[in-house]
Amino acid sequence: MAAVNLRGVEKTYPNGFKAVHGVDLDVRDGEFMVFVGPSGCAKSTLLRMVAGLESITGGELRIGGRAVNDLPPKERGIAMVFQNYALYPHMTVYDNLAFGLKLAKTPKAELDQRVRHAAQLLEMEHLLDRYPKQLSGGQAQRVAVGRAIVKKPDVFLFDEPLSNLDAKLRAAMRVRLTELHRSLREAGQPATTIYVTHDQTEAMTMGERICVLKAGVIQQVDTPTALYERP
Ligand code: ADP
Ligand code: ADP
Repeated sequence: MAAVNLRGVEKTYPNGFKAVHGVDLDVRDGEFMVFVGPSGCAKSTLLRMVAGLESITGGELRIGGRAVNDLPPKERGIAMVFQNYALYPHMTVYDNLAFGLKLAKTPKAELDQRVRHAAQLLEMEHLLDRYPKQLSGGQAQRVAVGRAIVKKPDVFLFDEPLSNLDAKLRAAMRVRLTELHRSLREAGQPATTIYVTHDQTEAMTMGERICVLKAGVIQQVDTPTALYERP
């Protein structure tokens, strides 16, 4: 059970700028929710608050029913995928995937099982021995997603993960990430996802529901079909 609930969430930056104005939102357990809106609407601020990378200056955030306002990122059960997915250049794909688990002293057999399972879900078993410089942009982005999957987080957070890819790869990755979400859910694994993008197509094709933001305020939360019918 890993719903994400925001109640009256606010963000005032130290310079006094209020970026988020009392946001109420319930992301359901297992749901794929997209935050969309123009640059500066506070998509990233909201995501970073869920991640624990940015403090919450008003209201309450719950993940899986637990109040997390004051919990550090590591204790929130989240994994985040960024646009700039710096992989470790001197490590193979396998070791890039395994790195966080090694730090967490995950037993070797379990580590190996998790790495292989993530590689299988992302169809990159044949890439495990490669180094990052031997990967295409799309392959590298899959490794970045894989690093999130091996953590088995309750919630996946994506911050414009595809914006550095060319149009063709972006389209392919949209399908791949949507299928990944479905596979995780069908396998009974936690799959709650918040996906931030400024790209309307990405929002409409990937989101089960879409939260439209403008200047730190929610304008609409609805399914793609409903938004398409009354935009
Ligand atoms: P988006 O992700 O939708 O492009 P952001 O969340 O990055 O928007 O930013 C939302 C608003 O908050 C913008 O007006 C931005 O200029 C402002 N902002 C972002 N970070 C800071 C900061 N550290 N200090 C002050 N204002 C900020
Ligand atoms: P350590 O640094 O703890 O010695 P390694 O990185 O050498 O660990 O490997 C840990 C385990 O992961 C090994 O048992 C190995 O079978 C497996 N492994 C490492 N790299 C690969 C790879 N490229 N492909 C498949 N399995 C790998």
